[in-house]
Amino acid sequence: MNTWYSNAAPKFESKSSKSLIHSFIVKEHRGLTINPYQGCQHRCGYCYATYEWSPDFYDKIYAKSNAPEILERQLRSAKFKSIEPVMISSATDPYQPAEVKYGLTRRCIQVLQKYKAPYYVFTKSTNILRDMDLHKGYRDNCFLVWSVTTCDEKIRRVIEPGTPPSDAIFRVIRKFVDAGVSCAVNIDPILPLITDSEVQLDQVLDTCNDNGVKHVFGAVLRLRADIWERMKTVLRLLGIREGIHDYQKTVFQFLEPIQPGVNIGSSKSYENRILDILKYRIQRRGMIPDFPTFIWKKDRRPSMTNSEHQLTLMKYV
Ligand code: SF4
Repeated sequence: MNTWYSNAAPKFESKSSKSLIHSFIVKEHRGLTINPYQGCQHRCGYCYATYEWSPDFYDKIYAKSNAPEILERQLRSAKFKSIEPVMISSATDPYQPAEVKYGLTRRCIQVLQKYKAPYYVFTKSTNILRDMDLHKGYRDNCFLVWSVTTCDEKIRRVIEPGTPPSDAIFRVIRKFVDAGVSCAVNIDPILPLITDSEVQLDQVLDTCNDNGVKHVFGAVLRLRADIWERMKTVLRLLGIREGIHDYQKTVFQFLEPIQPGVNIGSSKSYENRILDILKYRIQRRGMIPDFPTFIWKKDRRPSMTNSEHQLTLMKYV
């Protein structure tokens, strides 16, 4: 199992990769994704990317040193005439501290821009500010999403000890908003009994609103065997009495042990209630409770080769 709760600095290691850009389909959504790194220093206890094939996920960060070259080779030889928006990244944070050392995300983004690919970034980091020039110059065709789970520092230090505080993140978001780059906040995952109160959600939403964020959305935690083990530690560290019992009996309704590979969502009644509360409170502040629809629209894909017919993401925001 991953050693999650630790103050130890991770080790960095370079490795070569055979392939970088991959397609994905999640429910009705499809797209492309790149992961310039394997592993993540942000140490989120709820992380979904901690699979058994990556047992040292938090402690060893692999930098895919040939990522920009492989990406360019794949894009150059791609058979398709158009490209889906590219998610950066699905299984790591592309702007975690390793990026300061290796710069692979920046170089991959330069390749995507060269091939006129639309992209959206998922990060919890403030390091993205280094690439303001890059994203600002491409602002009609990119979209930046920060995952902010809480504005409560006491909670953040326990659930995601390697991430920056939310006020530092929002200072960076404000700079991108002011630069005209489209920004979103993803409150994901919402942690039952920890960050799901209206007070907690309002804190994040008010801060989004104050900083000009237009799109806000979120999702409730899902459990897997390894995630559950870490969440038990989180509940204990935060002193939430009955938390483990309530997760098992009320919120997620499962029996231990969770079988390997099985994902458990919260009960429909809990999930619907929380997501309804979230949506209502987002809309009440005049923000949009969803990802921009351009991301998932079919048959509206930009040409990779003919910039004259380039559709921009902003057409769908
Ligand atoms: S930032 Fe994302 S990839 Fe990194 S540990 Fe947190 S949830 Fe996992």
